[in-house]
Amino acid sequence: MTETPDACPLWCAADHSDPDQVWHTSRDIQVPAPGTAADTSGPLLSAALTTAIDLPHVFGTRSRLVVDTGRGVLELDVAQTDQLIANLTRFTTRLHNLRALLAVAVESDIPGDQAAIEQWHREFDARIAARDHAPQT
Ligand SMILES: [Zn+2]
Repeated sequence: MTETPDACPLWCAADHSDPDQVWHTSRDIQVPAPGTAADTSGPLLSAALTTAIDLPHVFGTRSRLVVDTGRGVLELDVAQTDQLIANLTRFTTRLHNLRALLAVAVESDIPGDQAAIEQWHREFDARIAARDHAPQT
């Protein structure tokens, strides 16, 4: 049996009319991905504060920052959250540095030759077809 405290914390956005909702949960914060990639969906990162409140007189309560990395879910305490913030801050600094290098690098980029690209694809497809139809040895 689930016991839900009468009052949610101010940050709780959960719908406790659902008897299976045994967590206080904040709204997600997200790092959206600019652009799109065929093999990914959703934000790069999302995070929410949660507090488990199922049978608190038995199990107590447990608050964690839940971070969805897209590759897995982290449940962080305060010290681990501080470490994540430090890691993200270092990443952001390095990202600024790479952005500056990118801005210089794109100045040297040259456009492709569309006719040459199409010729390359025709020759590539012909090599694949020749390999696929070659006699087995
Ligand atoms: Zn709540």
